[in-house]
Formats: sequence, structure tokens, C-alpha cells
Amino acid sequence: MRCKCNLETTEAIIKLLDKFKVPFRCSECSGIYYPYRALNGVVFIWGKPVETITAGGIHIPEISKDQFKTSYGIVLTAGKGCENTKTKEYTECELTPGDVVIYDKNVPWKMQVEASDGKFYEVALMNMFDVSAIVEDYEG
Ligand SMILES: [Zn+2]
Repeated sequence: MRCKCNLETTEAIIKLLDKFKVPFRCSECSGIYYPYRALNGVVFIWGKPVETITAGGIHIPEISKDQFKTSYGIVLTAGKGCENTKTKEYTECELTPGDVVIYDKNVPWKMQVEASDGKFYEVALMNMFDVSAIVEDYEG
């Protein structure tokens, strides 16, 4: 039987959620528990907090951070798919909660969402076509 988050949670997902400091967590399994279920082609993404110091100890100034057009994040919930506005064909959404993805950080809308700790956090939402890739075996 699955718990209230109704998602499959593995040790690897829990490690990722800790690494990304995701506040939307299931109280039973520590996996993702997000209060909304996305529909159609909508994807909600928790962006990886921007690190100003690299692994080599180099400080990245604010201005150069803005030059990166893409961002890493974790999928919190994703719809099942939608019509491609150009081809008019229905496209299934390949994203599932817990996927680490690369997305266009200039596109997404932001939304304040309440987590289980009672605080509000900024979450990015976008169309699935704004997600450019799933990162396989994210080591981070
Ligand atoms: Zn759970």
C-alpha cells in the first residue's frame, strides 16, 4: 500500500530531495508531497538553490549568474501531456515527480505554495515544452 503522497519513493529520491532542500515532503516516507496535481502540459519545478561558491571555491558574482539561461530543478508534479501548439499533435509528458531537469529559467512563472511546515515557498511552473532535458543519474 502506498502512503498519502501516492508516489514511489526510493533512497535515491530522498537523497536528491535533501540535496535540493525541497520543503515539500511526505511525513510518512520523506518523499515528495506536493499539495497540487498538475494537469495537461503543466509542470511544477523546485529550482535548485543557486550556489554562489563553486566546488573549487570560486565565488560567482550575481551578474554572471544571470547569464546562465538554464537552471536545474526537481519536478514536483507534472501533467499527463498536452497538444503541441505547432504540430497540433498530442504529446505525452515524460516527466515524473523526482526527475532532475534542466529548464529555461527565463520562461517560468513563479508561484507561492505552502509546504507542510506552514511556510510559503516559491515554485516555478511552466509548460512541459520549456523543460529541455531530464538529467540521468544526477550526482550534483
Ligand atoms: Zn509518502
